[in-house]
Amino acid sequence: MGIGMELQDLNLTSKKFSHQKFRAEFPALNNENVYLDSAATSLKPQAMIDATLEYYAHNTATVKRSLHPNALQVTEIINQARQNVADWINASTSSEIIWTSGTTESINLIAQSYARPLLKAGDEIIVSELEHHSNLLPWLIVAEQTGAKVIKWSSVIDDLTSLLSERTKIVAITQMSNVTGFCPDLAAISQIVHQYNAILVVDGAQGIVHHPIDVDKLDIDFYVFSAHKLYGPTGLGVLYGKQILLETMPVWHGGGKMLKSVSFDHFIPEQHPYKFEAGTPNIAGMLGFNATFEWLKRWDFNQAQLYTEQLADYAKSQLSKLTNIQFYSVNNSSIITFNIHNIHHNDIAILLSEQNIAIRTGELCAQPLMQKLGCQGVIRLSLMPYNNKHDIDCFIIALQHAIQILD
Ligand code: PLP
Repeated sequence: MGIGMELQDLNLTSKKFSHQKFRAEFPALNNENVYLDSAATSLKPQAMIDATLEYYAHNTATVKRSLHPNALQVTEIINQARQNVADWINASTSSEIIWTSGTTESINLIAQSYARPLLKAGDEIIVSELEHHSNLLPWLIVAEQTGAKVIKWSSVIDDLTSLLSERTKIVAITQMSNVTGFCPDLAAISQIVHQYNAILVVDGAQGIVHHPIDVDKLDIDFYVFSAHKLYGPTGLGVLYGKQILLETMPVWHGGGKMLKSVSFDHFIPEQHPYKFEAGTPNIAGMLGFNATFEWLKRWDFNQAQLYTEQLADYAKSQLSKLTNIQFYSVNNSSIITFNIHNIHHNDIAILLSEQNIAIRTGELCAQPLMQKLGCQGVIRLSLMPYNNKHDIDCFIIALQHAIQILD
């Protein structure tokens, strides 16, 4: 997009995306603050806040246990939430959707319940070098427990072919890097991984926010994400697993409502998804997330993403005018990461926050990738369709001011 060009609202399909209307849904934006830290966690639409408030103020009840009307109604809505997730990612049935506390817990569940019983000494888990710590540490832990090895992969497809062998049991990759914004070609990766009878684990924490995902078409074995990055509540996440895999996986947490029967001698677990969901779940979170999906369906997702990419192009073109800037992110991404030569990233963050600009700096939970990039940390701004050109202009002015002070 040309630098001086106005960003257009896009109303090309029956579902609409109007930037002004979209932005107006977020009460957190009714002030002078500029929020450019959405890859850490997104702001919340009023619809999601209302649903959560309604539950705590008027409809508090447990799920899957009590038989009074509120409990039955809340149980029905959380079933609907599970179906909404299944539809969003095109899972074949809602029983392939397991509620967790977030991406991190979902990957730990796969590592402990799927991988731990399977792996033996000498087996290999291939993990890309782009990964967030939550898609590396669970594999290192299970490797330590079983004698398997974690193998580093550059994320370049040709390199994957030379790493795969009959020893490979799992390949783990992000849908979208939280540092560079890079989106690997999951279709090609899936095809290669399955030629070796390994399974593919995809971390969708960032990707699901900006890109459509079809777990069925891409033949993904496990797909995970966190609600809080997709306009939803904190403390809630999703593990999608292919039915055939979930069926054979043992339970990993014990507690209420994950079992058919129990005595002091033995227990019989429920079917999935319930066998993985011990204890009272994050009910308010699920209700809020269900409201998020109902709200999301009102907007044209592709047009919203196109708008965000145009905004990111504008931000990058403005940043490119600065001298001594080094970019680490790919083009056309809602994530822009960079450093300013000879200035510490955290000094920039402090001076920006004094000017009411929220961004993220540091290693972004990706130490191995920082080593590869040859830096100890980066400055990251991350955009959502609720951001606008004014946010970018405020950010650039504040950044120029910070550089003047620090240079
Ligand atoms: N994976 C990626 C790519 C992320 O960006 C994040 C969070 O920033 C995570 C995993 C971890 O998500 P959570 O902390 O919600 O479990």
